[in-house]
Amino acid sequence: MTKSYDVAIVGGGIVGLAHAWSAVKAGQTVALFERHARATGASIRNFGFITVTGQQRGDFHALAMRTRNIWLEVAEQAGIAIEQRGLYISARYAESEDVLRAFLYTEMGEDCRLLRPADAPFLAKGQRAVLHSPYDIRVESRTAIPKLSGWLAERADLFYGVSVTGVDSGRLETSMGDIRAERIIVCPGDDLSGLFADRIKAHNVSRCQLQMLRLTDPGFRLPGAVMSDLSLIRYLGYADLPEAEALKTRLQTEHAEHLANGVHLIVVQSADGSLVVGDSHHYHDAPEPFTSEAVDQLILDEYRAVLGAPPPVIERWSGAYATSPDQLFLIDRPVPDVRLVVVTCGAGASTAFGIAERTFQSF
Ligand SMILES: Cc1cc2nc3c(=O)[nH]c(=O)nc-3n(C[C@H](O)[C@H](O)[C@H](O)COP(=O)(O)OP(=O)(O)OC[C@H]3O[C@@H](n4cnc5c(N)ncnc54)[C@H](O)[C@@H]3O)c2cc1C
Repeated sequence: MTKSYDVAIVGGGIVGLAHAWSAVKAGQTVALFERHARATGASIRNFGFITVTGQQRGDFHALAMRTRNIWLEVAEQAGIAIEQRGLYISARYAESEDVLRAFLYTEMGEDCRLLRPADAPFLAKGQRAVLHSPYDIRVESRTAIPKLSGWLAERADLFYGVSVTGVDSGRLETSMGDIRAERIIVCPGDDLSGLFADRIKAHNVSRCQLQMLRLTDPGFRLPGAVMSDLSLIRYLGYADLPEAEALKTRLQTEHAEHLANGVHLIVVQSADGSLVVGDSHHYHDAPEPFTSEAVDQLILDEYRAVLGAPPPVIERWSGAYATSPDQLFLIDRPVPDVRLVVVTCGAGASTAFGIAERTFQSF
């Protein structure tokens, strides 16, 4: 007899897991299918940086705040450590300081403070000002995702190493046979050519590839995540402010190569003191298998300007996420009782739980 569930989910990345969490919490019977033996995609390759500050003003910012609050509950229940709390954005240019001051006066800047560089002694010389936000948190994704999956496995049926090859109203075709479910949620990440490829294409979705580094313990502890001037023209919560125009003009002249490679700086610290440092952004449907040393050096250049001489690199990797110029995420309805959910910007860890609530409201 075909097994039947209230909810079936395709994809074992953070978006699929967040939907499973939401359904389990609502008392539903849940099956989740992941084609790999474990999650190996964007959700474990990221910084684990659950970013509220700097997300696009309005609805997306609210989604990130909601997701951050749910993450705190998830972390407590699934035994996931919050590795860092808070964000420091350093400004070494006058134009960047103007953006930070303008941000502070918006509703997004509530509870944020502008510090003097002397209040952030971990920063290299040459900074003008530093914005501190208390909201942002960080988990170690490589362990957090398996822990969340382990918590769910005690309350739902999680099938790893099983591909879903077809989805229709009430039914999934999988590599282990057919399954029935009243509601089906497809969370394929950056798989653009699998399930509902036509819908994904219609939403103008492609891929963005990022390079990442892990550096050895620098010998000091960062009190929170660190970002810099280059981030202020990438994250829409700052970049959409009118004050960002002057900064864009300056950075286009003085950091043309960084901008051409989509390089900005995020630095987070792990429990063993090592630092995860990134990143770059290259847009193409077929991610390049070979990472570029020149791009890594651009990332390390920015690290040097903000935190001083970088300690040795101990790991390098790349990752890809789905991206679209048309929207930051989509909840599509390809057939009745089926939803296709894709975060089409690099903020899935920061918004997945809020988006999952929206998906269930949409049925
Ligand atoms: C290097 C990097 C750094 C990032 N940093 C951050 C950050 O710090 N904070 C943040 O918020 N966001 C960050 N992001 C973005 C974030 O990681 C992504 O938005 C998020 O992980 C997307 O989650 P997902 O579940 O949609 O995709 P994925 O993690 O790619 O998971 C999708 C899963 O679905 C499975 N799947 C697909 N089709 C099928 C099928 N037919 N059958 C079975 N399984 C299937 C795939 O195997 C895959 O495991 C970063 C991304 C990258 C690449």
